[in-house]
Amino acid sequence: MKERVGEILNLLEKIYPEPKLALSFNNPLELLIATILAAQCTDLKVNQISSRLFKKYKSVKDYAMVDIKDLENDIKEITFYKNKAAYIIKGAKKIIEEFGGKVPQDISKLITLPGVGRKTANILIGNAFKGQAIAVDTHVLRVSNRLGLATSSDPDKVEENLTRQIPQEKWTTFTLAMILFGRKVCTAKNPKCGTCVLYGVCRWEGKKISGKKIGK
Ligand code: SF4
Repeated sequence: MKERVGEILNLLEKIYPEPKLALSFNNPLELLIATILAAQCTDLKVNQISSRLFKKYKSVKDYAMVDIKDLENDIKEITFYKNKAAYIIKGAKKIIEEFGGKVPQDISKLITLPGVGRKTANILIGNAFKGQAIAVDTHVLRVSNRLGLATSSDPDKVEENLTRQIPQEKWTTFTLAMILFGRKVCTAKNPKCGTCVLYGVCRWEGKKISGKKIGK
């Protein structure tokens, strides 16, 4: 099992030597806002909106003080913008009142913020705080199951499963590579199995070779 996991990691590293998050941010607060906005919305749209938003609001206090109608107006092109505006304002107030005005680095504190679950918290830990964390989004969930690294539809169980198999120093890059791989290759519909470099190590019964040669 360990060898197979090592092979998967090596192959992913070859395709994505330096995987990066698609969301734009300059600090933990901006990544927190961007991840809240990104729920069921494209990263492209979030980046378009956040580039304006981050010029207008610079600090936690700015978000805590803004009138909700103004913030809703600023993010109205984002899905569920009303809920998200409320999360952002409540979260900013909580950060000031309970965490000394700084986005906490601890997962147990991060998940107490409105609109923040383990996935978002782990994205923050891995990317804004440069820690090691496995964030199980829809892509990581699907690809892990197809590859046979997990056998559950529960993201928390899959996270636990993956953290037991993947060396800790690779948790964040593994997550980022899996997100990119899930978006580009192992897509939900019509995965590109025929050109997938992981074909040989993939355990998905539905994998299909369609057209081109494996690994090319
Ligand atoms: Fe995904 Fe197909 Fe590659 Fe398996 S072979 S990892 S299902 S794209």
